Amino acid sequence: MKFTRRDFIKRFLLLGGSLLLSRLPIHAEEGRGEPWRPAFEKLEGEDKFAQRVEQAYAIFENCQLCPRQCGVNRQKGETGVCRAPVKPVIFGAHPHFGEEVSLVGMNGSGTIFFSNCNLRCIFCQNWPIAHEGRGKEVEDEDLAEMMLYLQRIGCHNINLVTPTHVMPNILNATRIALKKGLQIPLVYNKSGYERPDIVKLLDGIVDIYLPDMKYTDPDQAAKYSAGASDYPEMTKKAIIEMNRQVGEHLTDRRGIALRGVMIRHLVMPNRVAGTEQFVRWVAEALPKSTYVNIMPQYRVEYRAFEYPEIARGITVQEFLEAMDWADKYGLTNLDPKSVAVRDFYDQRRSGKIPHETD
Ligand code: SF4
Repeated sequence: MKFTRRDFIKRFLLLGGSLLLSRLPIHAEEGRGEPWRPAFEKLEGEDKFAQRVEQAYAIFENCQLCPRQCGVNRQKGETGVCRAPVKPVIFGAHPHFGEEVSLVGMNGSGTIFFSNCNLRCIFCQNWPIAHEGRGKEVEDEDLAEMMLYLQRIGCHNINLVTPTHVMPNILNATRIALKKGLQIPLVYNKSGYERPDIVKLLDGIVDIYLPDMKYTDPDQAAKYSAGASDYPEMTKKAIIEMNRQVGEHLTDRRGIALRGVMIRHLVMPNRVAGTEQFVRWVAEALPKSTYVNIMPQYRVEYRAFEYPEIARGITVQEFLEAMDWADKYGLTNLDPKSVAVRDFYDQRRSGKIPHETD
């Protein structure tokens, strides 16, 4: 069968269309007749949320929020590897339409970009925000208002980008926002470089975990991410804890994400990201139906041009071998956009579609 560029676009439209055509209320049911509620509402109902905020804030005095474990007193203005102050610095808050389809839905993912970062990758695609800390310092109450604003304009979730170093502020702001009516899921969108013990503090608060798994090799992690040789070990343990808390990707009847773990893996040139080891690990340590997004969009950013092995984009072949490995190890829930891209190139690889435009 001939598979043309038009077919490819049609498939994308159908993917989005299944969401766009539906105008069901935002809180549809999970299928068991129970109306969906955000995890943090239950925690507040059990009178446990305030204590969790207090516990989290205490960590600022001897900051151990991430595996760097700097031990600085951020309450007194000291800063660690992430260079973050004790108050959140925010670069922007707006609906985002470039995330995974189940997060974007019809109205977008309500994304809040936090400045600074604990991982500090030399190929960072958000380097003005993550490395240079550009943004505006705000109070937790302001952060709560941003969450409520994003909900008011119809976003399907609150997508917290690079939240690790401001987790206590996020917990406090979420509780303030809950009291004013916040009712959409929290998406914890991060590099994956987390301490499992700290992730435990998020149990019953975060509905959707969206971690990266950037490397499987400690030497590569150290080389490209400021000496973080424990990245593979910490990230694997953290993801297992996230999976314990929220399980697999769950959507409502419109296909909009409500809960679960969604793992992102950016394919890098010259197999730097250790993609085969990554998919094998997922297949062995987690359910094979875990949502995995194998991403082809690596580009040379920040200081990546100083490292010849990553100073280029990936090839089609590198992306296809990554997807082939995912099949080989039996992963069954790959991101639909990646699958559509793979199918397109597969058809081209097998000669079923011409290389010229139609
Ligand atoms: S959050 Fe920042 S200060 Fe705290 S341990 Fe991590 S890098 Fe260090």
